[in-house]
Amino acid sequence: MEHLKVLFASPEALPFAKTGGLADVSGTLPRVLVEAGHTVVVAMPKYGAIPKDLLNGAIVAAEWELDWPLDPEPVRLLRLTPADSPVTYLFVESERYFERPSLYRDPATGKDYADNDERYILFCRALLEGLRRIGWAPDIIHANDWQTALLPTFLATLYKTDPFYAYTRSVLTIHNMPFQGKFPATTFAKLGLPEALFYPTGPFEFWGDVNFLKSAIWYVDAITTVSERYAAEIQSSPVDGAGLDGVLKTRAGSLFGILNGVDYDVWSPEKDRHIPYRYSPANLSGKRNDRVELINRIGLPLREDAPLIGMITRLSEQKGFDLIEKAEAELFAMNLQIVILGTGDEKYQKLLPVLERRYPDKLKAVTRHDEEMAHWIEAGADAFLMPSRYEPCGLNQMYSLRYGTVPIVRETGGLADSVVDVDADGATGTGFMFAEYEPEELLTAVRRMLATFPRKRIWREIMKRGMKQDFSWTRSAQKYINLYQNIVAR
Ligand code: ADP
Repeated sequence: MEHLKVLFASPEALPFAKTGGLADVSGTLPRVLVEAGHTVVVAMPKYGAIPKDLLNGAIVAAEWELDWPLDPEPVRLLRLTPADSPVTYLFVESERYFERPSLYRDPATGKDYADNDERYILFCRALLEGLRRIGWAPDIIHANDWQTALLPTFLATLYKTDPFYAYTRSVLTIHNMPFQGKFPATTFAKLGLPEALFYPTGPFEFWGDVNFLKSAIWYVDAITTVSERYAAEIQSSPVDGAGLDGVLKTRAGSLFGILNGVDYDVWSPEKDRHIPYRYSPANLSGKRNDRVELINRIGLPLREDAPLIGMITRLSEQKGFDLIEKAEAELFAMNLQIVILGTGDEKYQKLLPVLERRYPDKLKAVTRHDEEMAHWIEAGADAFLMPSRYEPCGLNQMYSLRYGTVPIVRETGGLADSVVDVDADGATGTGFMFAEYEPEELLTAVRRMLATFPRKRIWREIMKRGMKQDFSWTRSAQKYINLYQNIVAR
């Protein structure tokens, strides 16, 4: 096996900063790659939102004024190897662009920061320049999502003839297709690239705008997305491909689906450090206790006959909230209880308290980010609902399987790749699935769950089949390694 030097660039990574599943992936995959014998450095911005104590021990690896199309900007590259970590981190520090309370959105306006183009252009340019300054040329630069997408783009343009990067290959992982880094045409001048590269249907142009993700799809050596089903879906139509289906199809031979894994040290009922009672497939009594604790904590009446359905999610249309809104009356007429943990679109943040008042014995909504509560729900709920419009991978359905919390999911993306539909007599399958994005289909899946829940022996078998599924990172990490080796050899 060839030893690889990998720079894994991500706009968010645990334990430092998280808004979604990408932070889980960036927190775990690099560690597993190191365990497989490779050197991995994770690069991310030094956000003001990162708790200061997590940065203890960071040293200044490079400090300079970045020369780019805007005024020269003071930047620093910080290096940190936390005491218990096999992974080294590089943080791009810029007082002006990253010392802010949140990652992408201005809390004052609820909108994306107006200078997000400059922030991530600076991140990518400072990182590539910083690596030269510290003299570390990776074999692979692995970019994640639009914020880091300019890394492969700059490698193939600004640094095309730079001997320092002559042996560096690039990978782009797309975690969510509609998030592309689209900016007005005036942004192009901030990239520092020849004007001739900005032309209709070219690498950067997208309906008159500049599109960071498109440029990376164009230039990068290999593309991955986070499930096989989603890799096929994003090429299949302009809706699923969010307008980039055409460009993706031109790269079909270099586009692969690799399912995200689960960190079972954090997400398993045997080891969970957050939940009141631990349990295992051999002894499920802890789960019954966790259910009672959860229901008491959120303040719903304790009902043995009504399954408790959990949701942990961004409150957005992607996650199926418009379906729930449409199915509301019939859904809450059923013999069930629902707990929702989520933050997101104002529309749904406002809707949930209204629904809570309408169905006080049936619904609790916790509208904040709460890591501990997420674990309590995985452990204490009977079923878990993910009616996503689209779902690149999704993590919570895989967590739910491990916790014996039976998923109810729409058959899309990573949900389709990780859950198997329960058959008519409950003898096979791990969850309840529905195909079309229609309220009636969602309701039918929930009814099937409700009909199965009282059949205790069958229900327990479904739980146990789910708990035995293995979505650990080892297999997926090996797929990334194979991909890296293939493009390095080329
Ligand atoms: P996405 O990245 O599209 O939001 P994923 O299912 O891939 O969806 O990942 C979401 C991650 O964020 C999961 O780890 C989930 O537990 C977590 N999460 C989402 N909302 C909350 C919340 N309000 N509190 C705690 N954890 C949350």
